[in-house]
Amino acid sequence: MNIEELEIKNEDWKEKIQESFDRVKGLMQGFVFPCNITELFLDEIWKQSTEAFDKPREIQVLIDAKDDLYISVGTPSFVSFENQEDGLEGMQLPYKCWIHTHPFGSAYFSGTDWSTINTWKTLMESAIVLGDREYLAYRCDDGLSKKCYLGFYEQPAKPEWVNAAEDVLDGEEE
Ligand SMILES: [Zn+2]
Repeated sequence: MNIEELEIKNEDWKEKIQESFDRVKGLMQGFVFPCNITELFLDEIWKQSTEAFDKPREIQVLIDAKDDLYISVGTPSFVSFENQEDGLEGMQLPYKCWIHTHPFGSAYFSGTDWSTINTWKTLMESAIVLGDREYLAYRCDDGLSKKCYLGFYEQPAKPEWVNAAEDVLDGEEE
């Protein structure tokens, strides 16, 4: 991504993510099955992803073996470390977790995400994708996952043809 096109509203967005991690680090139970404490850290990443820039943008946070964070920002639908490589050379494998956001809201692994995971899975313990009030956490060695949603449930509206079909079925039962 061309960093010059990036308009930042919260100049200290990376520090906020780092501070949040420093606060929860000693209390959280790791990344594979995020606990309530880990979720506070995930919430901060989501908040910065949706509020820190000119528009909601993907953020990724890579946590290495020594608990150092490597953070970058991308477009609304893509993020990489290109042009944001500062400090990456100190990374220590294996990565504990690769976290990234989907500002459009759905927490699932895209095709690109999936190939990243498959490329790194022997050197990475877990991956988390954050959506709107939801996340998916994935353990790389065996695929065991936690998918979590918290919010007020909204039933999607049924298409008209489904209502019509249900009326027909109801009629047959009588
Ligand atoms: Zn993704």
